[in-house]
Amino acid sequence: MSAPIIDRLALIGVGLIGGSIARAAREYGAVRTIVATAHSEKTRRRVVELGIADRVVETNAEAVHDADLVIVCIPVGASGPVTAEIASALKGGAILSDVGSVKTQVLRDMAPHVPGGVHLIPAHPVAGTENSGPDSGFAELFVNRWCILTPPEGADAAAVAKLKEFWATLGANVEVMSAAHHDMVLAITSHLPHLIAYTIVGTAEEFSQVSRSEVLKFSAGGFRDFTRIAASDPTMWRDVFLHNRDAVLEMLGRFNEDVAALAKAIRWGDGDALFELFTRTRAIRRGILDIGQDSAVPDFGRPHPALEALPRPYAADGD
Ligand code: NAP
Repeated sequence: MSAPIIDRLALIGVGLIGGSIARAAREYGAVRTIVATAHSEKTRRRVVELGIADRVVETNAEAVHDADLVIVCIPVGASGPVTAEIASALKGGAILSDVGSVKTQVLRDMAPHVPGGVHLIPAHPVAGTENSGPDSGFAELFVNRWCILTPPEGADAAAVAKLKEFWATLGANVEVMSAAHHDMVLAITSHLPHLIAYTIVGTAEEFSQVSRSEVLKFSAGGFRDFTRIAASDPTMWRDVFLHNRDAVLEMLGRFNEDVAALAKAIRWGDGDALFELFTRTRAIRRGILDIGQDSAVPDFGRPHPALEALPRPYAADGD
């Protein structure tokens, strides 16, 4: 186990992601002390009961007091106002980061409030489940998953290196890219798939010729996987689509063109076109398996490589 990289970690928001960071940071010895807070009294009380932070405080400003690393783990729409709220309480030299699934808009919302001497380095751990709240977090969530850092131009190199080291200690593979590139990549790999899942489940719900019980009964025919994704948190995903609008609309436009081409192939009985596409997509799936980004091993309970030298692959599914 490595020596703590961070002395005091402050977590604003303790849901799936904040709760997993708290558990992982402690389990893998990444921090000395964790101070946490959440929006509601109910969640704060639950965090105390779970014992996953050293101290749980009532306000966001109180949480960040004297913290070396502050991670904002809340829906992206709240990132700007929360940064404004904590700005004057941030310690000089502290790293301020987040975990939001969108980066350009979040950077735009947070940056104007960040005082000089505080290093703003946004991040996105590409790891998740459809569950939310402090009970849903687990220490292994980030193991062998990607965590993307999107430091603004001119960001302090030492602070970026420290945040990289923090995420690596939690088991993540870390990559650095621009916020704009991140948003384009995630629009196609995560945001559009969620949009499609929400749509299909909604369409099935409104399709009255097939009863709801039939939909549930025969869901193994592909629908079941969509329902898992479509069960993801409504607040989080509303904010993702509203904050990554341009990239999502760009990908949706391309998708609509491709669906139209597929519909034409079906209408004209063009089996070769269908076969050619399905062969290409099967190769993509095999590529994902080859690089160890999916497996039959469940997310929950995946061992940390530093603790158990087990062979990969462990899965990557995330938002
Ligand atoms: P979650 O389980 O719903 O937890 C959100 C937490 O934020 C809760 O503790 C909530 O407190 C707190 N919160 C909300 N507004 C707040 C405010 N103004 N001040 C302080 N705390 C506030 O959400 P999550 O899944 O962890 O997602 C958090 C962030 O991670 C989002 O930005 C999302 O885009 C990103 N992300 C999610 C996933 C995923 O798969 N879920 C993956 C990668 C990144 P209360 O419980 O008291 O309301």
